[in-house]
Amino acid sequence: MYVYTEIIRFIRELYGEPEAFIPLHAPVFAGKEKEYLNECIDSTFVSSVGKFVDKFEDMLTEHTKSAKSVVCVNGTNALHLALLLVGVERNDEVLTQSLTFIATANAISYTGAHPVFIDVDKETMGLSPEKMKIWLKENTFVKGNECFNKRTGRRIKACVPMHTFGHPVKIEDIAEICNKYHIELVEDAAESIGSFYKGKHTGTFGKVGVLSFNGNKTITAGGGGMLLFQDEKLGAYAKHLTTQAKTPHRWEFVHDHIGYNYRMPNINAALGCAQMENLDKILSDKRETAMKYKAFFDVVEDIDFFDEPDNCRSNFWLNTIILKDKEARDEFLQRSNNNNVMTRPVWTLMNKLPMFADCQTDDLTSSKWFEERVVNLPSSVRK
Ligand SMILES: *Cc1c(COP(=O)(O)O)cnc(C)c1O
Repeated sequence: MYVYTEIIRFIRELYGEPEAFIPLHAPVFAGKEKEYLNECIDSTFVSSVGKFVDKFEDMLTEHTKSAKSVVCVNGTNALHLALLLVGVERNDEVLTQSLTFIATANAISYTGAHPVFIDVDKETMGLSPEKMKIWLKENTFVKGNECFNKRTGRRIKACVPMHTFGHPVKIEDIAEICNKYHIELVEDAAESIGSFYKGKHTGTFGKVGVLSFNGNKTITAGGGGMLLFQDEKLGAYAKHLTTQAKTPHRWEFVHDHIGYNYRMPNINAALGCAQMENLDKILSDKRETAMKYKAFFDVVEDIDFFDEPDNCRSNFWLNTIILKDKEARDEFLQRSNNNNVMTRPVWTLMNKLPMFADCQTDDLTSSKWFEERVVNLPSSVRK
């Protein structure tokens, strides 16, 4: 199709790359990355302690206006710990969306709990509060201060909405439903650093929020995750658990809980600090790219650019287009990748994977619709 050739040409022009490979999302190191890494190596504090760890946490606390931030080795283990911290136990159930990256569902499984997959919203690509309400009303009852699944008898302890590609979900509505049903809210904000809902940073609406600094995310620490807390005491407890739950003493080894070796090394935090210093620049560059895509696709028939939802400011981590149907999507994926322009479909729905095939779901109407039509376009910083 002629239009696909035009799209590929537009992307090549956008990135000033007439022939070379264009990745989906490559990191940029335009700040003090090398300086901080050298400083870290010179200090010999490359591992578990060091000033960059504290600095990185402080920067995120300030940026997200949280009470406390705790840095982790990656977003997946940050999610695992977040679920433990809100009290998820073996044989509980945790509500989440089927349209998400595998890490969300894996983290739920690490606790021994079972995910329940609810549909997403057409406006946000994230967990739908309307569908959540319908499912909870039909399938659960509240006894005491706990919510139970009528069919399985299991407790529904937590809910994990995910802000897909950096577009905030309807988080206030979700928080209200969670409150009503005594369900703890943990936000998977791994993709949404720099995204705001009604002026408030994603990941700060529930008891715990999680960010990721993997290499393909908006900013990177090589690898890394961050737990965001509104309750400082819970944050301090989280820090304790990420450092093997060792009680402070000058020489004795006393541990008061099953702990985890989940804290981020100083050398990763050094990279993260330098990236954080450029976050505003990165976000404005990404927004400019998104607006260029939007203007281009506004006049393209049968392809829609996925814009930020109402009341939201998205970070536009990965720009997204919605094609007419699966056939059109497959052809565009083939064409663009054959032309060395990296594009990707959305993830396979979680309930279709063998590990989660037996999990409960609702009708997943919008999830299935997106699964067939979504394509992510190159979205790296251009300057
Ligand atoms: C990236 C990501 C994570 C965390 O991934 P890590 O690579 O472990 O940092 C979790 N959830 C979602 C939705 C993600 O995109």
